[in-house]
Amino acid sequence: MSAHLCPVCRYPELAEPPRTDAGPSYEVCPSCGFEFGVTDDDLGIPESEWRRRWLAEGARWQSSSPAPPGWDGAAQALG
Ligand SMILES: [Zn+2]
Repeated sequence: MSAHLCPVCRYPELAEPPRTDAGPSYEVCPSCGFEFGVTDDDLGIPESEWRRRWLAEGARWQSSSPAPPGWDGAAQALG
């Protein structure tokens, strides 16, 4: 199983590709909280706008499960 990069926040461990020819993954990024196919398609918020907001709010871990040890959202996003 390979991991995939979040195009919003550059979190490198998404379980599925965010979007393929078959459509969006509907996976929620645990790092930035973007839900592919919902935040963008249903809510109409582009990835760039979500990224800007997430960074402006402190680039905090969004999942209720714990962040990886030493995780730094701002450093990851700039990666
Ligand atoms: Zn993300």
